[in-house]
Amino acid sequence: MDDFHNGLVEKIIKELDNVLAKTPLTEFDIVPVESTKNKTPVLHVNSSVALESWCVKHVYNYCYGDLIEDFLTHPKRRLSRVSSLTYKRIMLLLNPTLLINPDVTTLWNKRRELMSKRFLDWVAEMQFTRLVLSRKPKCNDAFSYRRFVIDHVMRETSERPPHFVSTILEDELEVCTMTADKCPNNYHSWDHRRWALEFAWKYRAEVDSTLIFYNEYKFIVSWTGHHVSDYSCFHYRQYCLKKLNLLDERWPVFEKMLEADLRENVQKFIETRDPAQKTSKSFKKTIEDEDIIAYLFDYVPNECSCYTKFYETCRKIEIYIYELTQNNDFVKYYKYHEALWYHRRFIVTEILTTMYDFFEIERVNGKLARKKLSPDQMEALQKCKKCGSRYSEVTKKELDWVYHCPLFKILIQHEKEVVAERRKDMDKHAGRHENYLKCVHGLAAHY
Ligand SMILES: [Zn+2]
Repeated sequence: MDDFHNGLVEKIIKELDNVLAKTPLTEFDIVPVESTKNKTPVLHVNSSVALESWCVKHVYNYCYGDLIEDFLTHPKRRLSRVSSLTYKRIMLLLNPTLLINPDVTTLWNKRRELMSKRFLDWVAEMQFTRLVLSRKPKCNDAFSYRRFVIDHVMRETSERPPHFVSTILEDELEVCTMTADKCPNNYHSWDHRRWALEFAWKYRAEVDSTLIFYNEYKFIVSWTGHHVSDYSCFHYRQYCLKKLNLLDERWPVFEKMLEADLRENVQKFIETRDPAQKTSKSFKKTIEDEDIIAYLFDYVPNECSCYTKFYETCRKIEIYIYELTQNNDFVKYYKYHEALWYHRRFIVTEILTTMYDFFEIERVNGKLARKKLSPDQMEALQKCKKCGSRYSEVTKKELDWVYHCPLFKILIQHEKEVVAERRKDMDKHAGRHENYLKCVHGLAAHY
């Protein structure tokens, strides 16, 4: 490039730098403009900033070239070490380069170095990466850099004001929603969202992680409802399901949030396939978890006082039956969507696993076996006379007694009906679902 162009690019990047210093900016883009028209190619409207396309090539080549020449390729040269004299120049070149092409890990690493040496303001860094993601919502380097900045700032801020963690979390969830919105099947965005929830869990002393997970589940139920072919968001839904705090006393609050009566839903699920239960007095709303367990597992809890286990098992059954009945409506309404059927596999697997867990058995190499318990688990189990002796009886009785309990029978009948109905609609996934149950879960003999 000649001197004229160099001078022009310097002018452009300084102007961009001025705009970037203005907060809050939320969107960056490159707008297709071919002629130079004698005015600035840096556009700034409200919270959006853009570059006209004609200047992009010049700006990128100039900035990237300078960065490589002066700051990146000669590690022993004085300039390549960041100092208070050089960091402003580096940032002046780095910002436009990364905005235009954010998929260069070396450049992000330079930013990491500047951040570690405390040259950068983390709030500004979060804004910058948001701009990058607004144009390239799948940019994993930008997500990864956000995580780095947050980890850094958490280490550096030992005395944190009350809403510090929750504000960070809100921002991350917002960025994830924005990037998932812009780009379907955005695995990196959902992965970052998972990280954000792990972050909430890590700092649960400072945020209400139970409520956050309840809210996230509600969010993802609604989101997946609008993105039925996007498996990456279903994968996140499965993650949220496993993170739900089943033992928290605010479970009724969670039901209100979902606008669902989970117990009633289980009741309907059973009554449809076992009409005798409709008239049975024992199956009313006021019944205890033990009564549900007694019916579904054909297990009389006399002398058994494992209330936590009953409670947890009941909540699991409730939430997974809720998932299953929701999925019924979806496979019926949005036909032939593989993601919905894959999610169904997950739900059925979880229901079966809940049953196996309840009886302390597991599937090993395609066969049911007594679960191997650690000495601690064994001790806890034997604290209850009934559960302790049941565990040792499992070997005597046939292991597949789990296949004879009402929950299992109802579940299989339910799956058969759904598969048969979907088959009528020529949904080829229905047959695959049946094969999955028969082959992967070894249910062929019980189907
Ligand atoms: Zn017990």
